[in-house]
Amino acid sequence: MPIEPKTSITNTAYQILAQINQNHVKTFTEDGRAPIENLYAAYLKLLEPGHWEVEIIAEAATTWQGKPVDFPILAFKTKITGPALYILSGIHGEEPTGPNAIADSLDVLTEMGKNRPVVLIPLCNPLGYFRKWRYLNKEQYSDQPEVEGMSVGDSEHLLLTADKTAVRRPKPANDTCDALSNFILQTSQNYPPEISVDFHGDILIPNGYVYSQGQAGAKDFLADQFIRIFEQNHIPIQKDGQTRFGEPIIDGKTGRQQDGSIDELLSADKIMVDGRIIPGPNAPHVFVLETPDADLPIETRKQAYKAVLKFLSTL
Ligand SMILES: [Zn+2]
Repeated sequence: MPIEPKTSITNTAYQILAQINQNHVKTFTEDGRAPIENLYAAYLKLLEPGHWEVEIIAEAATTWQGKPVDFPILAFKTKITGPALYILSGIHGEEPTGPNAIADSLDVLTEMGKNRPVVLIPLCNPLGYFRKWRYLNKEQYSDQPEVEGMSVGDSEHLLLTADKTAVRRPKPANDTCDALSNFILQTSQNYPPEISVDFHGDILIPNGYVYSQGQAGAKDFLADQFIRIFEQNHIPIQKDGQTRFGEPIIDGKTGRQQDGSIDELLSADKIMVDGRIIPGPNAPHVFVLETPDADLPIETRKQAYKAVLKFLSTL
C-alpha cells in the first residue's frame, strides 16, 4: 500500500521518487557509489524542514537495455534569495564523489538553507551517473574522439569567442546543457552567484587540484582554503604539471580557463544570447574541484568533499 503523503512538500518528493523508482535501473556500484535511487531519496529530504524548494530543470531520458528511462534533473533553491552560493555536482557521470558527498551532508545543507541563499544542483547528469558514463552519449573522454562526447556542462553556445564577436558554438551541444545553462541564467536574476563550487574528480591524475575560474584566478584566497581542506583530509595535491587537458597546475591550482564549461558561464561578465551581447552571471569566485579518483578510495574523497561543504556553510 502506498505511503500517504502528508503535505504538498512531501507530495512533490513522493511523486519524483515514484517516477525514479519506475526506471528500475541497476547503478554501477563497483566503485563504491550509492545506487541512484538512494541519492534522490537523500536529496529530497532537504524539502522536509521547509527551507529549500525544488525545481525540475529538465528530464534526462534515454533508452537503456531496451527500456525507456527518465530521471528529472533537480535543482534545490533556498527560500532565502539574494547573492548566492552555487553548488554543482555530477556533471561527469564517472565521477561519483560529489553526488555521494552531498547525499551524506544533509545536516550541513539543511542548516545552510536556514541562513543564506544557496542553489544546489546535486546530480547534473543522472544518465551518466547510473551507467558510469562521462557523457550523455559515451562512456569516456578521448583525445581523438571518433564521436564528440556530449557533456551536460557545455555552455559554448553562450560564451564569446576571443575577439568577442560571436559565440563559440552556433547551437547548444545538447538539450541537457541547454537546459542547465538556461537555468543558471534565469536563476542568476534572484540568486546572483557570489561563489560557485563544482565537484569533479580526475581518474587520470593521482593527486587533487582546483580550477579557480573567478576574477582573481589562481590567486583567489578560497582556492588556497580548498587545497588546505584537501590536505587535511588526506588528499595528495598535484603541485605542478598539467590537468588532463594540458592546463598548467601550480601548487594545486590552475587559473581562469576558456574551457566552454558551465563554470566559465558562471564567471562570465559578458555572454551572447540571440546575437546580442548581454551581461553574464559574473560570479566573482568560481571553482572546480578535482579529487584524484585513480588510487584513492571513494570514502576518503567523500570525506574531503564533506569537509568542503562544511567549510562553505561557515562562509
Ligand atoms: Zn569532471
